[in-house]
Amino acid sequence: MSKEIVAWENAIIINNKNKNQFRLCYICKTEMNHGTKWNSDLNQHNGWNIDHIDVNESNDISKNLCAVHYECNWKKGNKDYTQLYKDAKNLNWTIE
Ligand SMILES: [Zn+2]
Repeated sequence: MSKEIVAWENAIIINNKNKNQFRLCYICKTEMNHGTKWNSDLNQHNGWNIDHIDVNESNDISKNLCAVHYECNWKKGNKDYTQLYKDAKNLNWTIE
């Protein structure tokens, strides 16, 4: 599986949304749309890319990769969000 697919599959499911189209950004707790993958001038604020949850770029084991908003990933900077991800994963998410 490609890293992109792994990262999307690790992103948290929103119970009332199609998981192939929408997932939760575990950083800002709003939805990501699969169709807005990567950043571009057209979708700077809602595109998504691959986060290394523990910030170790060489740690490409599948559980360390997660789709997040491009902007959230950029703002995250050099912080290890392992616990933040685990906490979000343990909750049930619905978004209206
Ligand atoms: Zn976000």
